Amino acid sequence: MLINERQILIVAGPCSAESREQTLETAKQLAEYCKPDVFRAGIWKSRTSRNTFEGIGADALQWLREVKSVHKMPVAAETISPQHVQLCLEADIDYIWLGARTVVNPYMVGEICEALKGTNMKVLVKNPVNPDIRLWIGAIERVANSGISEIIAVHRGFSTYYNQPYRNMPLWEIPNELKRVMPDLKIICDPSHICGREDCLKDIMQQALDLEMNGLMVESHINPKTARSDKEQQITPRHLSELLSGLILRNPGDSPHQLLQHLRNEIDMIDGQLLETLARRMHIIEEIGQFKRDNRITILQAERSRHVFADRIEKGNRLQLHIPFLKEILKSIHNEAIRIQVDILNKDTKENQAE
Ligand code: PEP
Ligand code: MN
Repeated sequence: MLINERQILIVAGPCSAESREQTLETAKQLAEYCKPDVFRAGIWKSRTSRNTFEGIGADALQWLREVKSVHKMPVAAETISPQHVQLCLEADIDYIWLGARTVVNPYMVGEICEALKGTNMKVLVKNPVNPDIRLWIGAIERVANSGISEIIAVHRGFSTYYNQPYRNMPLWEIPNELKRVMPDLKIICDPSHICGREDCLKDIMQQALDLEMNGLMVESHINPKTARSDKEQQITPRHLSELLSGLILRNPGDSPHQLLQHLRNEIDMIDGQLLETLARRMHIIEEIGQFKRDNRITILQAERSRHVFADRIEKGNRLQLHIPFLKEILKSIHNEAIRIQVDILNKDTKENQAE
């Protein structure tokens, strides 16, 4: 899709192909509202929990063929095994993608690459589930080594112990680093799997374009509420077209403020991470407060406070932070932690009085 003279690859379609009607109707509406460059649908699904929808399987390939012939749209499906690659080749599928759960498994990536040898398949490589750029690069290199020339990396976010407020943390520094080490590689962003819900899709899409990503892969379903997988994050084709038309496309290198914009994006990301980390710290403080209340332990433990301060100052010093500034921050955080714990104790006392 050409927007503002910038070539943006739009891949859109349902998380899963669920029925012929749902697949074809979604494709029809997408063609009408968004004209995506590629139609995607998962047909083999590697699901985290059992008793969830694992995809229609090979029978759905014919629905993708129909989409391709009716709407003249190239089509994409995920392959989890070399047999899937074979079936996709037979069904004339244009793109396959390696999912986040496959990319963590270099052996399986290798097997899939064997099946790709000597073919013209176009391959999308999602980032691995965990934030390890080496696995991502390893998979891309294996695909390239199998003779595939059209490879696109897909940034779909990373699973970390604490993902709030996302389903998968964007950790933009990782795709940024991939771009640095592989400058000719196209990278597109999958905001659906980063967000896990529809209300933050727009911000992530905008951020991806501001970081000069080459496109977007977005999950779209004619009726997201009834979707058999990832229903919270899917949007209707009409909604997708609204989001796409609201995006601002800045031309790389055009603006003298380009560098400034980049740096501001970095600051926005880092501030987001700082706030998320701070919120997580305060949640743990609450748990500690409850523990102290239940075990009748005093809030202020002088020895522990002294240790925390000394340790953080030493670490900050090594990181070349300005120490008076760091002391101010540590004091504020400590005071807030005490306030939270005092609140918890007081609440308990009032409840006891009321009983
Ligand atoms: C998908 O695109 O539907 C999918 C399963 O993605 P991921 O591998 O990124 O979880
Ligand atoms: Mn999905």
